[in-house]
Amino acid sequence: MIEKAEAIVLKTKKYGETSKIINLFTKEFGKLSVIAKGARSKNNRFGSSLEPLSHISIVFYNYENRDLQYITQGSLINFFHSIRNNPSKMMYALPVLEIINNVIHSDEQNEEFFELVINVIKALNESKDCFGNYLLYFELHLASQFGFHPNFDNCEFCGREINHDFAQYAFNIEKGCLICGDCHQKSIMPGINLSSESVNCFQKMLEISPEDMALLSLPPAMFSLMFNLTTKYLKNHISGMRDLRSLEIMGEVV
Ligand SMILES: [Zn+2]
Repeated sequence: MIEKAEAIVLKTKKYGETSKIINLFTKEFGKLSVIAKGARSKNNRFGSSLEPLSHISIVFYNYENRDLQYITQGSLINFFHSIRNNPSKMMYALPVLEIINNVIHSDEQNEEFFELVINVIKALNESKDCFGNYLLYFELHLASQFGFHPNFDNCEFCGREINHDFAQYAFNIEKGCLICGDCHQKSIMPGINLSSESVNCFQKMLEISPEDMALLSLPPAMFSLMFNLTTKYLKNHISGMRDLRSLEIMGEVV
């Protein structure tokens, strides 16, 4: 059956003399592997649409019970030139692709997550600085969408609303909750120390759209702390997040 889909290209590999196998994350069908015949030949009819990171629309033959489908048309929606021309931007875009590959299973449709991916990559493409902020945003919203919405609004113990009346708070990775300054001193629940400013940024990031991340200024030390905490939180709760190669490289950077 012939189908149409909107997709982002995750990975490609050579196949035979002139073809390619493409791993895609599609809006309509979840993860999908397709063969693009002639994609490496001189008169490649797919143009540059099948490069990793490209946002494309495709036409393909969808055969049930087959692992590999056959793509007949691919056209670019967005090539994300600015990311491709800037290695620093690319460094933060690649983990997004690797994360999708690890956390989404084949045939698992997730339109909301697809929108998150496209919107974050678009915002990174248009950004002028603080490129890491977009990966941090992506990770935080991924946690939220996958059922692990972290609570930065109330103290887990006393229930008090977080009004930034303490300089320090603590975040418990296991429960995804915040502990206020008072309760942290009294309780034995482990928590990673978090300044009031970081808590405030986490609260904002959960409410704004990715393009508004440009308005949020995170000093490098604060970014590192927030990024490491969020990554640790995801690794703790989402099995596919473990052993991500690109995030290990990031760990050396931040
Ligand atoms: Zn408390």
